[in-house]
Amino acid sequence: MVDAINVDIVVLGGGPGGYTAAFRAADLGLSVCLVEKQDTLGGVCVNVGCIPSKTLLHAAALIEHAKHGEKMGIAFGTPSIDMDRLRAHKENTISELTKGIANLAKARKITRVQGAGQFTSHNTLSVVGESDTQILFKHAIIATGSHSISLPIAPNDPRIWDSTDALALRSIPNKLLVIGGGIIGLEMAQVYSALGSQITIVEAQDQVIPAADKDIVQPLVKSVKKRYQILTKTLVTAMEADSDAITVFFDGKNAPESERFDAVLVAVGRRPNTANLGLDILNIELDKQGLIPVNERMQTSVPNVFAIGDIVKGLMLAHKATHEGKVASEVIAGMDSAFHPVAIPSVAYTSPEIAWVGLTEKEAKQQGLAFQTGKVPWLVSGRAQSAGATNGVTKAIFCSDTGTLLGAGICGENAGELIHEACAMLELGGRAKDIAHTVHAHPTLAETFAFTAELVEGSMIDMLPPRKK
Ligand code: FAD
Ligand code: NAD
Repeated sequence: MVDAINVDIVVLGGGPGGYTAAFRAADLGLSVCLVEKQDTLGGVCVNVGCIPSKTLLHAAALIEHAKHGEKMGIAFGTPSIDMDRLRAHKENTISELTKGIANLAKARKITRVQGAGQFTSHNTLSVVGESDTQILFKHAIIATGSHSISLPIAPNDPRIWDSTDALALRSIPNKLLVIGGGIIGLEMAQVYSALGSQITIVEAQDQVIPAADKDIVQPLVKSVKKRYQILTKTLVTAMEADSDAITVFFDGKNAPESERFDAVLVAVGRRPNTANLGLDILNIELDKQGLIPVNERMQTSVPNVFAIGDIVKGLMLAHKATHEGKVASEVIAGMDSAFHPVAIPSVAYTSPEIAWVGLTEKEAKQQGLAFQTGKVPWLVSGRAQSAGATNGVTKAIFCSDTGTLLGAGICGENAGELIHEACAMLELGGRAKDIAHTVHAHPTLAETFAFTAELVEGSMIDMLPPRKK
């Protein structure tokens, strides 16, 4: 028996992109069916991504802060970690959020179908699940997300992890190798280091978090370099599993020939979920990265089919997916919407955090732009001194001709919150003098952003002005 549903919009995938698109469409008066193959909504972000990782990173930060207290004469002693309760706390956080999303979907009268959806024509989607369903739609939004890239040289062994395995928190390995020094690698290293693992990170490029400027990543490297072995410009050439450990062979100037590890986390990026969706039936061709090409209205080459989130070009981030989801539904509802943000912030929730937005200094150089940078070490910040958080830096990049902000990078406590002043300034076309004239409360870490502009404007008091060349 096949159920049949007839709607204005079918949304395929219930992650942050998909459920946002579905909710916005319902709020605009359209009938919506949301198809998700898992039994909860929220996608990677809520179930096995942003939320569990931030929950565990919060626990790691708590352990770090407690240690830090000793410098001020406040000692808590060695933390006792109840892994079952920590895991339960993480699961509970996820379940509170997924229940909330499910309730919001119900309140909006969105039809939910559980199962894997596949297009059978330009107006029909077939879902194979508990009961098979045929959905007849006027418009479709594809939001099927992404999955971890695996390494073909990795043996099939439960001690070889992807990010989902690492977040499951099944065991704390004595020695953990993280392959890939990107955001996932650094965040998971932070969690397992706080829980007691000895960490090695292997990164193919010449710095960890290569997308950010090296000087912005430096405070994080300074903070972890005594605890982690970081092997940059290094590749893993082979892995062998035996009953005791995984032996890993390296190729890199400063790397050992081989080393034994209790677990290996592979965090070398993610690929879009664009296979087995029936895209060939729709005549949608993928680009070289396997992404679905879309215009700024999130529309594919098929006018009634839209695509959003990790399966389309750009950063694989939840906040990008949600904004694109809103645009797709608004366009379908007849609104004049488009996705062209000036900049999208990236945040690594490490300790200290790293956040950047707009152009990095290396990108400004590559583009041959005339620019000035204002760079402020947090040693000059009274608030950073009070909080023992002087291991930080705030940098902003301004156009030399107009003084307009081009980009910013922050490393330090709460960098992920602080970056939003730069986001708003970029969106509004703010100039160094606008930022310098904005009265910032004292003592705050946010002042360091104003200081970058004051440096460029020549009005900075707490640091000497840059020497004239
Ligand atoms: P997804 O969240 O991947 O959702 C896609 C959904 O589609 C899934 O639920 C999947 O089951 C479903 N689906 C797939 N195929 C089908 C099908 N055929 N039929 C039905 N359903 C289907 N981003 C941030 O911005 N901040 C962070 O802190 C952050 N932390 C992260 C931590 C980790 C460990 C990981 C792995 C990712 C993290 N990300 C973070 C990235 C973020 O999770 C993704 O960018 C975001 O989830 C993408 O949203 P999406 O809606 O495009 O896809
Ligand atoms: P990534 O692309 O950010 O980092 C992967 C890193 O692995 C890169 O630095 C790359 O140079 C390196 N690498 C690739 N192949 C390698 C190899 N064979 N050996 C050694 N190093 C290798 O990918 P990720 O960290 O896996 O994250 C995936 C996606 O999830 C990213 O798009 C990221 O933005 C998103 N994410 C975001 C957050 C956040 O916003 N806080 C957190 C986690 C994940």
